[in-house]
Amino acid sequence: MEIVHIAAECYPVAKAGGLGDVVGSLPRYQCDAGHVAKVVMPMYRTGFLYRNAWDVVHKGGAALGHSWFDYTVIRERTNLLGFDLYLIDINGLLDRDQVYGYDDDTERFLAFQVAVVDWLSRWEHRPDIVHVHDHHTGMIPFMMQHCFAYRHLASIPVVLTIHNAQYQGVMGWERSHYIPAWDSWKRGMMEWHGAINPLACAVKCSHRVTTVSDSYMQELRVSSNGLEALFEYERGKCMGIVNGIDTEAWDPARDPYLEHHYASADPERGKRSNKEALCGIFGLDPRKPLFVFIGRLVGEKAADLLPQVIGDSLHHIGRRMSFLVLGSGESVTEARLESLKDFGRSEYGLYLGYNEGLAHRLYAGADFLLMPSRVEPCGLNQLYAMRYGTIPVVRNTGGLRDTVVDIGEPGGYGITHLHASVGDITHAVHRALQLYADPAATASVRSRIMELDFSWQASSDKYIDLYRTLK
Ligand code: ADP
Repeated sequence: MEIVHIAAECYPVAKAGGLGDVVGSLPRYQCDAGHVAKVVMPMYRTGFLYRNAWDVVHKGGAALGHSWFDYTVIRERTNLLGFDLYLIDINGLLDRDQVYGYDDDTERFLAFQVAVVDWLSRWEHRPDIVHVHDHHTGMIPFMMQHCFAYRHLASIPVVLTIHNAQYQGVMGWERSHYIPAWDSWKRGMMEWHGAINPLACAVKCSHRVTTVSDSYMQELRVSSNGLEALFEYERGKCMGIVNGIDTEAWDPARDPYLEHHYASADPERGKRSNKEALCGIFGLDPRKPLFVFIGRLVGEKAADLLPQVIGDSLHHIGRRMSFLVLGSGESVTEARLESLKDFGRSEYGLYLGYNEGLAHRLYAGADFLLMPSRVEPCGLNQLYAMRYGTIPVVRNTGGLRDTVVDIGEPGGYGITHLHASVGDITHAVHRALQLYADPAATASVRSRIMELDFSWQASSDKYIDLYRTLK
């Protein structure tokens, strides 16, 4: 089967979060299973672009409203990632340092989508499946079905995977002329609550819709930033497929970012050495249990609660533990985390920014990972943490609910809490300390989580089964 994945991110080319991890690994597993999976993404100005060799495979042009743009499609020459990787170069629009965050993101991603569909329409054969990811590629199914120039693509089945429904790419109707000439009878397919909503449009036009966990799929019908009724109505074509992790890139026995390697058979010494190295960097006492948070400092992740959780824990439970935070995001949360430094002294460390290597060292060196998310479609951090023997302390929601079982349950291996509240999180920290006070129990949980199989194999098969229903 030939599958064309289209996305805004793909690790290691460009990544802002879990979307990049998924698009960087799922296609490789599909290729390993004997399929032909390809990834098409924008050509940003990233290190990966300059470090590798590329062939030009197509040059074309298309209109974005009243402006004409030229685009070039390049392909990575050596199959470095285990699948064919195509970048779309649009001068002045996509060739930026960052993936997102520009005032003209709407124009950038619309031009990208127009270029991809235009290029696909010139292929001499048809792929079996077009697989789009999140709202940045959400207009593609509409264009393939309802733009006059591209209607010959309408028979290709399209699958949409929603990695995060909070972001929908909503835009006003004044931008509708950016979409290449389309059948105005189909206006309703683009519309949601009076505006053009690319995510809603993709849900309506795709043949199947997946989210990255079962629980998140159910939650979307109750809470999805305004799309609840749509998910209820379209429930027949929606399903959850939990993400896997790339067990080669995330392997504590071989991870090039780690100073000390270890395996599940004997993790204690390796973890201790990594913890000592990490604590050395941040001036923390390695004898105390170490809690880490890694991620975007935004409301979805409940990062705004961290300053009080850390402050309260150190104040009320006593300075018996350390905290390390790695992330960036809302400036108020960043400032509050920054101001905790004086209070925390030798029990608290902070790194504001994105640092892939440091994230790996935190997963390896920590005892517990905090993930109190208000919304968590799947969550990869808890899966990486478990692979590295770090016990997850998570809110019982979305993909966290599907992947972490509380130690109070039969066969449990993590610590869960119900609400994203300071009280619940602090209580969970307290329970983690009780577990840590029993080294044999902690070691046994650690070995168990390292043995759990969260690899892509099973999930990748589920996608293939889903594609087959569309053939
Ligand atoms: P989301 O996609 O919602 O941000 P996920 O849990 O699905 O959350 O994926 C987050 C990914 O991004 C993980 O690979 C995590 O290690 C990584 N990550 C998040 N913030 C940072 C950071 N500041 N530095 C390094 N890696 C980060």
